[in-house]
Amino acid sequence: MQNLDGKSVVITGASRGIGEATARHMAELGAKVVLAARSGDDIERIAEDITQAGGTAMAKTCDVSDYAQVEGLASHTTATFGRLDVLINNAGLIDPIARLDESDPAAWSTIVDVNLKGVYYGYRAALPIMLAQGEGTIINISSGAATGALEGWSHYCATKAGVLSLTKCGHKEYGDKGLRIMGLSPGTVATEMQVQIKASGVNPVSQLDPDVHIPPEWVAKGLAFLCGSGGDAYLGADFSLKTDEGRKLVGLPLIDN
Ligand code: NAP
Repeated sequence: MQNLDGKSVVITGASRGIGEATARHMAELGAKVVLAARSGDDIERIAEDITQAGGTAMAKTCDVSDYAQVEGLASHTTATFGRLDVLINNAGLIDPIARLDESDPAAWSTIVDVNLKGVYYGYRAALPIMLAQGEGTIINISSGAATGALEGWSHYCATKAGVLSLTKCGHKEYGDKGLRIMGLSPGTVATEMQVQIKASGVNPVSQLDPDVHIPPEWVAKGLAFLCGSGGDAYLGADFSLKTDEGRKLVGLPLIDN
């Protein structure tokens, strides 16, 4: 199991789903976690739970589509914990799902603001801090949609493709400066996002039996794995939990099991 003792870890989108599971898991591994999301009450409650269980956690309300708030998240983290060792760019949206001809331009644009610009804002706020430290890890939550096309998901596919590009660009610029930047593509995960996808009835993902989705705790384990040297083989790329290779490395059940 990866040891994150004393590491300062910021997780965006930590009010539920993958982000919440990651905050809880990384705190158990010894990290000082910063939970960020718009739902202040939820992140406060989760941070309190973690603290009650003996971990170290702080909640910071943050809308990742607002650069000033993301910069505030990074500076609050260093003011409190002295460092920013790991940034998990996890916050993301898929709703509203709509074919291009019926899509709402303002809603489409909001997905770009959160899924793509939110990741850039995370980079922009964290990179100067990590460069000054001479080390740091950034993991962007990717998706099979980064390289595929799915009906009704143009906003999601286009933004996740952009995030994969940011993973590659980040590694190209900072891979030789002590920074570790990579993505994680989880496959389908049992979270609120899959509830929204099912309700849409659009494209084959909405037809999946919910039993095939992996639990968010598995993604948390994958992210913790990437924080260690085992993740070095995936710098500048997406590590996938949809392959037996990835599952085996993290110690998760294999696809056929
Ligand atoms: P989820 O349960 O819907 O959680 C999404 C999280 O993002 C929430 O904590 C939400 O918090 C946060 N968020 C949304 N907009 C935000 C904003 N403007 N600023 C800050 N936080 C914001 O979904 P999830 O499945 O855990 O998704 C997490 C990540 O995994 C996303 O990037 C998603 O694209 C990716 N992913 C999911 C799946 C899947 O099958 N579930 C598959 C591949 C990739 P607030 O509403 O409180 O702000």
